[in-house]
Amino acid sequence: MRKINFSAGPSTLPLELLQKAQDELLNYQNKGFSIMEISHRTKIFEEVHFGAMNNAKKLYGLNDDYEVLFLQGGASLQFAMIPMNLSLDGVCEYANTGVWTKKAIKEAQILGANVKVVASSEEDKFDHIPSVEFSDNADYAYICSNNTIYGTQYPSYPKTKAPLIVDASSDFFSKKVDFSNIAVFYGGVQKNAGISGLSCVFMRKDMLERSKTKNIPSMLKYAVHSENDSLFNTPPTFAIYMFALEMQWLLDQGGLEAINAKNEQKAKTLYECIDQSGGFYKAHAKEGSRSLMNVSFNVAKNADLEPVFVKEAEEVGMIGLKGHRLLGGIRASIYNAISLEQVQTLCEFMKDFQKKYS
Ligand SMILES: *Cc1c(COP(=O)(O)O)cnc(C)c1O
Repeated sequence: MRKINFSAGPSTLPLELLQKAQDELLNYQNKGFSIMEISHRTKIFEEVHFGAMNNAKKLYGLNDDYEVLFLQGGASLQFAMIPMNLSLDGVCEYANTGVWTKKAIKEAQILGANVKVVASSEEDKFDHIPSVEFSDNADYAYICSNNTIYGTQYPSYPKTKAPLIVDASSDFFSKKVDFSNIAVFYGGVQKNAGISGLSCVFMRKDMLERSKTKNIPSMLKYAVHSENDSLFNTPPTFAIYMFALEMQWLLDQGGLEAINAKNEQKAKTLYECIDQSGGFYKAHAKEGSRSLMNVSFNVAKNADLEPVFVKEAEEVGMIGLKGHRLLGGIRASIYNAISLEQVQTLCEFMKDFQKKYS
């Protein structure tokens, strides 16, 4: 029996996709070997690799102004690669909305970039997205679109003249996005679009020009990866294969508008359950900043009930509900692969739990 898995990442994958990988694992397309066992320089692998890149761009409706890079080191390495490759002589501006932006700010500081934090919601335990205004002439303007731990998400992105850089790790491929200001849009794919080991970076081509001028090690240089079609060295071939399956799955679901409609329905169901509990449960994020992906909440009536909640949920087959260690409480991550039915099952459990303990 598969559990209902609300883990924040790595997280649940669509069952069909796991089954397809299983079917093909020993004998990829009747070739007599696994996709894991062949060179990344073969035509067979290149079809997977470039097919995934094309479908990723297609899902976001991107034209040739953007390139897709497949990189390693997680989203966390991007925290360093961004200032290394893209800072100029000016100011690198950041909006601080939680742990992941703090880490990105720290890496830029280590590298000696001229960092300015233009907005922060830290004093309010990151319970909302602050209003953000970036300077027109900043080297870049940096945000994290969805704050995985606190359960906040930008309802829309700040308008910027400076190139906007977005860490979209935890709402990757969950909805259509307006790219008109976006220069870099990236994430580790293990939360909402595949398995760990692969980062996918959409980069506007003028950013690659900046990278070209930098004297930095090859593996850390966007321009090197771009010139080599992300095959400069051995890429994480199995993670790319899984990502390719995920891209196809999303297209089969009807694309990002269709998946977003489902995501909205799921989030609405869960927030209603929280809001209509008469104060028994309370969401961490303020209205207007609530994430459709990660719903962080407390058993407000009595925090001692939180570990009981997690334990009793596990007993009925629901896992991954313990909140992040920095925030505590409960967190339900309801990424693309979670169905409305599964969210409804959680809500039923929550109502029963409330009855039992009020
Ligand atoms: C998980 C996460 C990261 C870190 O990702 P790694 O792939 O583990 O480096 C960065 N940003 C956000 C928003 C995340 O959710």
